[in-house]
Parts: sequence; structure tokens; C-alpha cells
Amino acid sequence: MTTAPTRIPPHQDIIKCTGVRAQGGAVLCQTRPNAHVTIDGISTQADDQGRVIIGFDRDEKSDVTLHVTSDEGKGQLSLKIAPREYNVQRIDGLPPSQVSNYSKAQLAHIRRSSARKKQGFSSREQTMWLKDGFDYPLKDFVKTSPFGAQRILNGVPKSPHYGVDIAAPVGTPIYAPADGTVSLADDDLYFEGAMVLLDHGQGLISMYLHMSAIDVKPGQVVKRGEKLGEVGARGRATGPHLCWRLKWRNRHLDPELLTTWPHEE
Ligand SMILES: [Zn+2]
Repeated sequence: MTTAPTRIPPHQDIIKCTGVRAQGGAVLCQTRPNAHVTIDGISTQADDQGRVIIGFDRDEKSDVTLHVTSDEGKGQLSLKIAPREYNVQRIDGLPPSQVSNYSKAQLAHIRRSSARKKQGFSSREQTMWLKDGFDYPLKDFVKTSPFGAQRILNGVPKSPHYGVDIAAPVGTPIYAPADGTVSLADDDLYFEGAMVLLDHGQGLISMYLHMSAIDVKPGQVVKRGEKLGEVGARGRATGPHLCWRLKWRNRHLDPELLTTWPHEE
């Protein structure tokens, strides 16, 4: 015989969230141990202490609802998501683009690279390393391109730039913005050149592209402020810079937004 799940009384919060409630942001929520939390059809599971990360899409709608299912019953939480303004540049009257042809060797390199990246992104670190957002990964820098910038060429929207580009000289140290486990440290990727992936818990993965040197190994636990490597221009990069990115599941988040994590109390 199965029992229908009871509803949690409304005076008891089944889930509470802290963090950045904005497009491209993320929150860390406290719910029941091992509860399932669903947002827009994406299902995720809290750890055995009831902690769960939820990320918001670049174009997330202004009202989202988290649906929670736990041993103690079901519940939901509605959140207001602040809209963002992205840098959108329209360029018209361009000559038709030439099709870029990769050589056989380049195509093989691209395929090898994506297989290894896929493995790095499949990481779902059970330890919840994220506590209160991020620090900047560089001490001195010039931000050259913000998250979400998009170009519309001859009326055709190109895929948005999902990174934050930070210009700095080759060799500038890159530091972990928060604790995490290295899920990829690879110096032979076609587009990214050398890249480190850091899993901050439940697959919230920050990315460091075009590095000139990598100081960490896959599986290594790094603490906030520990050196990951150095800025470079490897792979498909026009000049020395750090392309800093963040993913939660298949969503691209804005890592810089997590430097504005609210500190309550
Ligand atoms: Zn970039």
C-alpha cells in the first residue's frame, strides 16, 4: 500500500534560498535531506544535509517556482528573478560570411577536445563547496567583455558570449574564487587552449580558459584563494586574457554575479 505524500504545513519552510536572484545568478538553498528540487523541468537533488544549488538562465523569466519533493511531503517556493540588460550590438551590411573550413587534423583535435570536456562537465561533486559566492580570480585586471554580450550580424543573432573576459598579462596568477574540486585540467583543447574546470558542488562548475600554465590536477581539492594557474592566450584567443565562465547543468551563469553574494546577519 502506498501513502500519498503529506503537504508540509505552510508555516514550515520546506526550502529557503540565499544568493543572487537575477538572470545568470544562482542561489544556495536549504531544504530537507536528499529532497528533489525541480525548476523548469530540470530536476536536482539536495545533499544529505538538505543543501541544493539552483542556477538561473541568462534569459530566465521574472517569476520562477521551485518544486520540492521530500520524504516529509511536497512544497514549493516562488522566487522573483531580477532582469539584466545585456550588451547587444547590431551590425548590418556585412558581406556574406565565408564558411570556415577546418582541416582533418583540426576536426580530429576538436572531437578529442569535446570528449574530454564532456567528461569534465559531467562532474557532480557531492560535497557542497559553495558557501557564500565567489571572489574575483585575478587581483588586478581590466574587464573587457561582460557576461551575456551578443552580436546581431545582418539581423541574425549570434550565440551570446557566456564568459566574462578579463584582460591581464600572460603569467598573471589565477586564484580559485571559492573552494571546489578540479574536474578538468587540460592543456590541449582546440578552442580553450588550456582550461581548468572547478566543481563547487552538485555540478556548479566554473571555467578558466586560455591559460598559459596550469598548477592543479584533476581530482584535487582547492581552497578559495589557491592558485589554479596563469593567464595566457592559448587556443582560439585574440590576446592574453582570462575567459571566466560558470555552468550549472546546461545553463550558463555569470560568474561575476556571484561576487555580489549577499552577506546576511
Ligand atoms: Zn570569453
